[in-house]
Amino acid sequence: MAFENLSERLGKAFKNITGKGKLTEKNMNDMLREVRMSLLEADVNYGVVKDFISRIKEKAMGQEVLTSLNPGQMVVKIVHDEIVALLGTEDAPVNYKKSGITTIMMVGLQGTGKTTASAKIANLMKKKQGRNPLLVACDVIRPAAIDQLKTLGESIGVEVFSLGVETKALETAKQAMVYAKENGYDTVLFDTAGRLHIDDELMQELSDIKAYVQPDDILLTVDAMTGQDIVNVASSFHEQLEVSGLVLTKLDGDSRGGGILSVRAITNVPVKFVGLGEKIEDLDVFHPDRMADRILGMGDIMSLVEKAQEKMDMEATTKSTNRMMSGEFTLTDMLVQYEQIEKMGSLGGMMKLLPGMGQLAGQIDEAKADNKIKKSKAIIQSMTPEERENPNILRASRKNRIAKGSGVSVADVNRCLNEFEKMKQVMKQFSSLAKGGKMPNLGG
Ligand code: GDP
Repeated sequence: MAFENLSERLGKAFKNITGKGKLTEKNMNDMLREVRMSLLEADVNYGVVKDFISRIKEKAMGQEVLTSLNPGQMVVKIVHDEIVALLGTEDAPVNYKKSGITTIMMVGLQGTGKTTASAKIANLMKKKQGRNPLLVACDVIRPAAIDQLKTLGESIGVEVFSLGVETKALETAKQAMVYAKENGYDTVLFDTAGRLHIDDELMQELSDIKAYVQPDDILLTVDAMTGQDIVNVASSFHEQLEVSGLVLTKLDGDSRGGGILSVRAITNVPVKFVGLGEKIEDLDVFHPDRMADRILGMGDIMSLVEKAQEKMDMEATTKSTNRMMSGEFTLTDMLVQYEQIEKMGSLGGMMKLLPGMGQLAGQIDEAKADNKIKKSKAIIQSMTPEERENPNILRASRKNRIAKGSGVSVADVNRCLNEFEKMKQVMKQFSSLAKGGKMPNLGG
């Protein structure tokens, strides 16, 4: 997953300032130097880093921070907010028309994941946004692109309109619009051709389709694995087509993440979706604040809650999450969170959403982690309600009883308790951000 190293390095940079009652100019400068190095090493554009650091410096050196009760945490919040600002501050939803057919042109270089993203987005629109989408195969250049789209369309139950490779892309687009009107579709997604490099012929074809369709959104797919080159590609496409949104693909890959942090700042085009894997459902609507939480290793509680909402009864989860957001966190909450993870399947993905567990997720293999969660669950289940609420009462004899009851060693019990303490710490930081107005209330 992108950002793993960055999260780790930022975490280290903050360690020296959080918890300090007073901040000096020196430890602030040391921290800023660390943050700058972390961003440059993550391959963030130099100019972007320079502006970022100077904005943080200006805010962090203010009297309000230096004299506050917990200056370290205020600085972490400033960095958090500036990362959100880099990523776009506001969510950027699809520009749906109030009435009539919404049209979306998907553009991007070959191999960036455009065809996959077209199907993923159609699927999300259909399942989560109540739309009735039609996919249109306008990539008549890449061999097999049409078949690929048809197969994907079939798998998600979305119709694919195609006139084959003999018909020009513009003609296909024109007839698709007629077809969409006649058949009551409310959203049309055009999967256009890509090339390995930007060339005039491609841009002309795309401009022609754009002129005819007048799309409500032009979404450019960019591959997170290509690093800073994202910025060049996005700038070129944007110059010629006025792109209205980005789809960042392959965020699950092992990239340094710098391109992602630079592209919005430089092009000013908002990110609308992120691709997180090869499967159809591996696509999320992009939320800058949640991404910032992930980058800072604070997990992504909101996405976790949403995923949970899709899969199961929400009562216990909402209760537990609200308690966590208010800074309370007990072993019972930890148990609820672990139970969710198990119900939801992909452990690696879920662990990254839990505060404090992001870095851990990269270091251990899934089978081991799975086993560990099973053990932790058994351990917590062997505790009395009183022990779960207040683990401080756990002395050797109680730990022995719990270890026996859950079929693990006392060392395992201690490990589980350590993990709990760690999560609780991160939860506290997270909740102070939430109280600062960062997080919406979950209700419930
Ligand atoms: P196109 O040429 O731009 O239409 O690219 P495709 O949609 O054919 O995708 C190229 C390759 O990237 C395929 O093997 C996809 O499965 C893969 N791919 C697309 N999106 C993602 C993603 O978010 N994560 C990962 N890991 N692979 C992806």
